[in-house]
Amino acid sequence: MNIQNYINGSFHNPIQNTWLDNYNPSNGAVYGQIPNSSKEDVENAYQAAKAAFPSWSQTTLEERSRILIRISELLESNLQRFADAESKDNGKPISLAKAVDIPRAASNFRFFGNAITQFSSESHESVGQDAINYTLRQPIGVVGCISPWNLPLYLFTWKIAPAIAAGNCVVAKPSEVTPMTAYLLGEICNEAGLPKGVLNIVHGLGGSTGQAIVEHPDIKAISFTGGTATGAHIARVAAPMFKKLSLELGGKNPNIIFADCDYNKMLDTTVRSSFANQGQICLCGSRIFVEASIYDKFKTDFVAKVKALKVGHPSLDSTNIGALVSKPHLEKVMEYIQIAKNENGTVLCGGKQVTISGYENGYYLEPTVIEVPTDDCRVNQEEIFGPVVTLMPFTTERDVLEMANKVKYGLSATLWTNNLNRTMRMTHALQAGIVWVNTWMMRDLRTPFGGVKASGVGREGGFEALRFFTEAKNVCIAYN
Ligand code: NAD
Repeated sequence: MNIQNYINGSFHNPIQNTWLDNYNPSNGAVYGQIPNSSKEDVENAYQAAKAAFPSWSQTTLEERSRILIRISELLESNLQRFADAESKDNGKPISLAKAVDIPRAASNFRFFGNAITQFSSESHESVGQDAINYTLRQPIGVVGCISPWNLPLYLFTWKIAPAIAAGNCVVAKPSEVTPMTAYLLGEICNEAGLPKGVLNIVHGLGGSTGQAIVEHPDIKAISFTGGTATGAHIARVAAPMFKKLSLELGGKNPNIIFADCDYNKMLDTTVRSSFANQGQICLCGSRIFVEASIYDKFKTDFVAKVKALKVGHPSLDSTNIGALVSKPHLEKVMEYIQIAKNENGTVLCGGKQVTISGYENGYYLEPTVIEVPTDDCRVNQEEIFGPVVTLMPFTTERDVLEMANKVKYGLSATLWTNNLNRTMRMTHALQAGIVWVNTWMMRDLRTPFGGVKASGVGREGGFEALRFFTEAKNVCIAYN
């Protein structure tokens, strides 16, 4: 199946007619082609967005809201089709795409369709100076949205929905590894009555298509989710052009388990926070620290549960772990397992590629638990982004806090304890943008989402996203 660019409300081949292969991770086969778009394609997308902006930015909030909610409804009524497409493109279980990815993409449109009707700006009365200030929140113009492969439609729409809700027009690029649901979204937008040019989707490689979006002199803001190295590169290009930048980057999140937690809830959730989506979620808790008094019990129970996870074809209901997203990614993750062994890590379970009958060329890997002797090893410091977690005991709150914070990343942290004072101390001291206590990945779309340190700059979610996608203009009126 060939994918086309979605520009000005219709579908187009890339101008230079060059294409990339699209792989199905569950069997390793090429199942379609995607545009390898050039600068000229990005320029066409920009021109369509620019032409649509005056009218879209003046469209009433009620009308914008109505269209966004209609997109949400259409995603919901096409749930199975989108879930199948996401699974085929990414390797994740269809059951996961159906329960999480696609419903969440629909929620993103519904949420921002509602949020824009509630978004307000401030006014300040300058008492004693006979003046009043009010702050306008105006759309920026044409903005760029660039997203990764792990939660393809979920993260793509997490940017696009607030951008267009706020009155901007968008040039967007999904990951070249998982372009399919972004392609299908174009059809939905047309059906929902989104005016042509408001959203334009250009497919292609990061270094060329993505780079052309970031370098474009008149695309005034870039919202990016992806790897830390890519984020640093984008910042180097965009910062001298004074573009607004939102960077959501990598993570190496600690999962800290104290003996006084609700053990069974912690154990079940930790299996999920370690291996959901094949461990390819930026929020996965990939470094597990367990209080020494329950370390041996946890190790036994956790490994038993992980061994029971079923690696299988993404279409089967019985599958817990599907395929990794690509061959190079599978190789990277396996390389880290070897690095762990070289650094005296002990593989407690998993560690090997899985061959599934009928799908021998698929990218399957056993969920892997590695006990590490020290926190300084590479597998505890570098992002692996696959079904691999490390395990280490700790004795004091101070020690575990130091280890938790001793990485360059600071996206999220999970804390398991029923001690209130400890909870307060730890949540204040953890260097992370998001801290979960006695839960994981519980999301409320109104809350700020993002990381500190090498995990990024800026926050998405709720009004934070609407603030990012608008410019504040203060107006001061003197009345004497
Ligand atoms: P990536 O950085 O390789 O690619 C992300 C996107 O950027 C893709 O669309 C890619 O084509 C594009 N890109 C690459 N080079 C570019 C350039 N020079 N200019 C413009 N665009 C460019 O990341 P990935 O491998 O797709 O995704 C995995 C990474 O994403 C992991 O590090 C993960 O932690 C991170 N991630 C972060 C969050 C978060 O919210 N913080 C969420 C999901 C994933």
